[in-house]
Amino acid sequence: MTDIANPVAELRVALAGIVGAEHVLTDPALMEQYVVDWSRRWRGDAALVVRPGSTDEVAGVLRACSARGVPVVSQGGNTGLVGGSVPAAGGDPLPVVLSTRRLDHLGNVDDLSGQVTVGAGATLGDVQRHAAAAGWHYGVDLAARDSATIGGTVATNAGGIHVVAFGMTRLQIVGIEAVLPDGSVLSHLAGMLKDNTGYDLGSLFCGSEGTLGVITAVRLRLHRPVGRTSVALIGASTYAEAIDLMSSAVDPSVRLIAAEVTDEQGMELAAQLNGVAWPLAQRHPLVVLLEVADGGDASGFMAGAESIDGRTWGLDDDADVVIGLDASEQARLWKFRESQGEAFTALGITHKLDVSVPLPSLAACAEELRAIVGAWPTMEKFGVFGHLADGNIHVEMFGPDADDLEIDLAILECVARYGGSVSAEHGVGRAKAGELHLCRSAEELAAMRAIKGAWDPQGLMNPGVVFG
Ligand SMILES: Cc1cc2nc3c(=O)[nH]c(=O)nc-3n(C[C@H](O)[C@H](O)[C@H](O)COP(=O)(O)OP(=O)(O)OC[C@H]3O[C@@H](n4cnc5c(N)ncnc54)[C@H](O)[C@@H]3O)c2cc1C
Repeated sequence: MTDIANPVAELRVALAGIVGAEHVLTDPALMEQYVVDWSRRWRGDAALVVRPGSTDEVAGVLRACSARGVPVVSQGGNTGLVGGSVPAAGGDPLPVVLSTRRLDHLGNVDDLSGQVTVGAGATLGDVQRHAAAAGWHYGVDLAARDSATIGGTVATNAGGIHVVAFGMTRLQIVGIEAVLPDGSVLSHLAGMLKDNTGYDLGSLFCGSEGTLGVITAVRLRLHRPVGRTSVALIGASTYAEAIDLMSSAVDPSVRLIAAEVTDEQGMELAAQLNGVAWPLAQRHPLVVLLEVADGGDASGFMAGAESIDGRTWGLDDDADVVIGLDASEQARLWKFRESQGEAFTALGITHKLDVSVPLPSLAACAEELRAIVGAWPTMEKFGVFGHLADGNIHVEMFGPDADDLEIDLAILECVARYGGSVSAEHGVGRAKAGELHLCRSAEELAAMRAIKGAWDPQGLMNPGVVFG
């Protein structure tokens, strides 16, 4: 019997009929982890959490929600940092959180084409290990690898630490299966590299942040492993010097796999968090991490100075550098950079900004951001670090109130003056929906809204995200 007086109870019964009662959560204690994000800055309210276990069940859930006008927030690992993975506070009707974590199947690796089809809820780490076990390499990697899902990384077009070598998530996608709000399934997983048959509908889901539908499976392109690598940490004084090291310290004949920069404050916090010592002989305003595919014997790093084509290459004799060759030493060096988010979050609720600028502007923009953030009256600790080779700067700030948006705006406006993007890799979410106009034209925004309106005419998919 339909309980019209209690629409949530009625929805619960309807969804339980689709996914099984044990996969519909309404107990606030069980729902807590689904309504608060990793950073704890974003918290909202939901009617219930539903955990479908197949594409058909996702379609059934979306049909049921659409019929009742109930909004849906798709959620993978809930590691997104822009408030897009959790509902907003309040709302009538309250949204449903649709967790994709049960869609975690890993298909057989197709050795001939170097591809694999995986469920949207498989973690990035599981996909990496699955590919490696079959002799292949998945090109995306980031510190949240053991929680972030493939669906989430596609929905945010995640970047991470290997973009310089393999590109963003968008470049790894051969096909996508997704469900629209009316329950129709768009499935394009055959794995053809060449397929010019009209619009590439799947690619619209990449970077859609749950606003168009639910990604249920992804066909991924894999790479041949790069082999053994060497990792170096090198002290630097300025961002300009840090950028220069990417060419001056690396043999131009080897492949650069990663180039990252961390600042002194962040290094210090990471050392404290992990209970380890400062890794270099001296303190420096910045520490650059370079990883090169050189067979693992450090031959990819230029020692001493040497003239090639009239240019001087190589690390100065007085460069402060440590090189990791074996896996455990490399993991120790990487830890300083990879635990930045965690180290700042350990202080309390922090503001986490992720922006990008054209590489030639990175040094000037990063220095200006340091000046803005450093002079902010309520600032206690901050870091300006990031994925150096990608022009991608992260700003972590502890001190300003969680809901003080002025400092965020000052940063985004500074980036816009350099012709940059208000979101490099984390997405727009709720955090930057109001600032999209700083880097997207009115015409571009109108085209995006038209697509959203066509696919989600009731506006039920992750309302408030991307468009505000
Ligand atoms: C310690 C740490 C380090 C990080 N490092 C990086 C980094 O280097 N590079 C980077 O790009 N990001 C990084 N992130 C951010 C985050 O890990 C990525 O944005 C990741 O892609 C989110 O995946 P998720 O499964 O957790 O998605 P969620 O957080 O659950 O969701 C993110 C967005 O995607 C949508 N979504 C999720 N799954 C689906 C689906 N199946 N269908 C449709 N929409 C969906 C959600 O609605 C939401 O809008 C980091 C986060 C942490 C905590």
